[in-house]
Amino acid sequence: GLADRLQNTMQKIRGKGKVSEADVKEMMREVRLALLEADVNFKVVKDFIKKVSERSVGQEVMKSLTPGQQVIKVVKEELTELMGGEESKIAVANRPPTVIMMVGLQGAGKTTTTGKLANLLRKKYNRKPMLVAADVYRPAAIKQLETLGKQLDMPVFSLGDQVSPVEIARQAIEKAKEDHNDYVIIDTAGRLHIDEKLMDELKEIKELSNPNEIFLVVDAMTGQDAVNVAQSFNELLGLTGVVLTKLDGDTRGGAALSIRAVSKTPIKFVGLGEKLDALETFHPERMASRILGMGDVLTLIEKAQANVDEEKAKELEKKMRTASFTLDDFLEQLGQVRNMGPLDELLKMMPGANKIKGLDNLQVDEKQISHVEAIIQSMTKEEKEHPEIINASRRKRIAKGSGRTVPEVNRLLKQFEDMKKMMKQMTGMQQKGKKKGGFK
Ligand code: GDP
Ligand code: MG
Repeated sequence: GLADRLQNTMQKIRGKGKVSEADVKEMMREVRLALLEADVNFKVVKDFIKKVSERSVGQEVMKSLTPGQQVIKVVKEELTELMGGEESKIAVANRPPTVIMMVGLQGAGKTTTTGKLANLLRKKYNRKPMLVAADVYRPAAIKQLETLGKQLDMPVFSLGDQVSPVEIARQAIEKAKEDHNDYVIIDTAGRLHIDEKLMDELKEIKELSNPNEIFLVVDAMTGQDAVNVAQSFNELLGLTGVVLTKLDGDTRGGAALSIRAVSKTPIKFVGLGEKLDALETFHPERMASRILGMGDVLTLIEKAQANVDEEKAKELEKKMRTASFTLDDFLEQLGQVRNMGPLDELLKMMPGANKIKGLDNLQVDEKQISHVEAIIQSMTKEEKEHPEIINASRRKRIAKGSGRTVPEVNRLLKQFEDMKKMMKQMTGMQQKGKKKGGFK
């Protein structure tokens, strides 16, 4: 995926405090290539790169992220935005039934998606859909929908193939009112290519049935063609949404990225297989992760962001510099680490973790952390700020109060002292590296 391409470039800018223009340029070169390779529309790529570059250059790097992760975060946010940001809802008519018209080229998956959508409406929204067989041209199209209806145990309205699709749609809506079906999903005919006759017929059905949604079904495997089809259908018919099918196949997902930008129509559902439950609401954010091919890293970034308060991080850094880091600060840090979830899970999400042998067997002992917490919590305020006053009798008291042993208390205090020493050394080195009067 895109992420693989970024790994090398990311390595180079790791450890920098600020993302420079040259860094971003280098990363964007990779992003551009990857997107073009994934069959994303050229103009979309150009605009996208411009936006991400503008947002990334000169950004202060969050304490919890590496510069590379920071750029990836911007890339992901912009990818999500490109595909529509929030996921969209399905329409509900003021007066039932809600009419949904399915359109698209032959073989895109209209009939299958009609069944899947009906299934989803019933399962997720508790609706009672009726399916309408309005493809009177393709041999066996009516039979195909009827079979799906049987499988779902749902009504299929059909008048054979000698009645016009417009008339079928009209009668179907009447019947749905009588039978109290709150959704009517019209499966229409497709052609191999867009032609005037097909469009005229679809326009006629649209005018008569006044649909609340017109969903274009497109095959994700067709890449840029799917994008062009979406653009033409929207111009000629006006769409409310796109269903992108066959995403379970070996597709690079580029169509998903360009469709909304080019056709001005959001993707509403994705088809992920031939079965009737293989339809999902489209989540722009999830798709962005899929395209980046790095769900785990993104989760890690999000967790780090949600849990480490930037102000606190700054304060902590200052404390480390002045070596006024107390046991209370230590405790708070432990808490933050814990909020991010089980430690071993977290470690596994680290980039490159999959390459470390034996990580699967690694168990970070959560119990150990809660023991340390208990010990610190059993100290007085004064003890936490000045651990040097903790003598033998205080140690005994602390051990008793926390339900731990004196050797454990000793070990913790020793570790804390070592840590402070190390911090002093580290910040000392940093100081030497800076110019005189470098910081307050
Ligand atoms: P229509 O001509 O647009 O009505 O297309 P159909 O609904 O008849 O579907 C054409 C073929 O695509 C059928 O074999 C479907 O099973 C298959 N199909 C539809 N949607 C999906 C999908 O999301 N994934 C996969 N793998 N196959 C699909
Ligand atoms: Mg069909």
